[in-house]
Amino acid sequence: MSNIEQLPTTKLQHQDANAHLHPFADYRLKQQQISQIIVKGDGVYVWDSEGHCMIDAMAGLWCTNVGYGRKSIADAVHKQMLQLSFYNTFFHTTHLPAIELATKLVEISPAQFNHVFFVGSGSEGNDTIVRLVRHYWNQKEQPGRQIIISRQNAYHGSTMAGASLGGWPSMHKQGGLPIPGIVHIGQPSYLEGGQGKSVEEFGLEAASWLENKIRELGPENVAAFIGEPVQGAGGVIVPPSTYWPEIQRICDKYGILLVADEVICGFGRLGTWFGCEALGFRPDLITFAKGVTSGYVPLGGVLVADRIVDTLAETGGEFNHGFTYSGHPIGCVAALENIRILEQENILNQVKNETGPYFQQKLTALNAHPLVGNSGGIGFLGGFNLYKHKGSTVHDHIPFSTSDNAGNLARANILASGVIVRLMPGDRLLMSPPLTLTRKEIDDTFNKITQGLDKTYEQLK
Ligand code: PLP
Repeated sequence: MSNIEQLPTTKLQHQDANAHLHPFADYRLKQQQISQIIVKGDGVYVWDSEGHCMIDAMAGLWCTNVGYGRKSIADAVHKQMLQLSFYNTFFHTTHLPAIELATKLVEISPAQFNHVFFVGSGSEGNDTIVRLVRHYWNQKEQPGRQIIISRQNAYHGSTMAGASLGGWPSMHKQGGLPIPGIVHIGQPSYLEGGQGKSVEEFGLEAASWLENKIRELGPENVAAFIGEPVQGAGGVIVPPSTYWPEIQRICDKYGILLVADEVICGFGRLGTWFGCEALGFRPDLITFAKGVTSGYVPLGGVLVADRIVDTLAETGGEFNHGFTYSGHPIGCVAALENIRILEQENILNQVKNETGPYFQQKLTALNAHPLVGNSGGIGFLGGFNLYKHKGSTVHDHIPFSTSDNAGNLARANILASGVIVRLMPGDRLLMSPPLTLTRKEIDDTFNKITQGLDKTYEQLK
């Protein structure tokens, strides 16, 4: 890291601990929690203030799809900042980047989408979903349809509506959540609920929980169902192939809107523009953020299907909703250049047919490690669990006890070997690397992970 000046790391870490309240952190421990300072990114690599180079197998926070250091995105942003740094999209005004990006998103999204509403983040997108679907049913003169069904362990953001749609009890406990009219059903986790069943059977069973909930609530009260195509922050839970088609059938049967939260799965992560295309369902609304700009600038949005837009257009009445930064011109040009790179470098095709399957092959092979079970994923999303003893099926594996600290040890050892992965409760490690990761970099990533796991195995013996 010769081009990075020597930084006073300890001093900066204390400054950070003194003044900076981090997201999802325990503030009682804040003086002890020394953060790693990331100072540079290039391609799939990041460097910290002490000169360590790491493969960022989490793509920032599931977002740096085209990798770090793209000069063409920086140039587009720089040019736009000088041309028009900001203008709003309220009150019948617009600007060229918003027009161009809306047009491009309509072009690359599934056929039912011809309109987009811009927001600043995934959470704002999901807040928009809640307001928009309720507005839609009011306009359809079915105002009883207010309830949105989501899933336990889903992650849909941190705003009041986002955290309510999410299914994390730790978030619900703070702030009196969920807000009224949001209910949760079980998640399609084969590990959690599939014992004694085939994966396909379990997929149908998990989808049937939606139908049961609709019947219990009365279809006339249900507005929408929302789900991540593949749950991300909940642990990279890939649903059985039978799940989404059955969810689609149920939503169609009861006339309920189907919402795909594509904040992680969108923009190539599963080898398609949107995850619903890879998993075979046809949503009425899509939330996106993160990968749309590869995280270079915050931007998100909601794609809205024609049947919703047509109703709102026919019935009229203002949708009283919007953000100062809806369609921010700097975010729009970053997104346009990011999408251009994804297209020009044929990245979706690589994730679908070349590097993605190779990544999955290496991930599945990790199961041979004495510590690892339940490894796998789809596209450039994956995860694996650490186990104390392995049985003949995933349901027979025996986890470590919390006091073994296995997950923390493994994460630290993998990091020391040069790869950033994310740790979940239950000793599960997650991966969501930049989509530009080459075969050679995939080999390097898994060699380093194996080194970290070998060391962990020795320590836990
Ligand atoms: N939805 C999903 C599926 C996410 O993974 C996230 C963030 O990780 C969000 C929504 C919230 O996005 P943001 O953090 O941009 O508000």
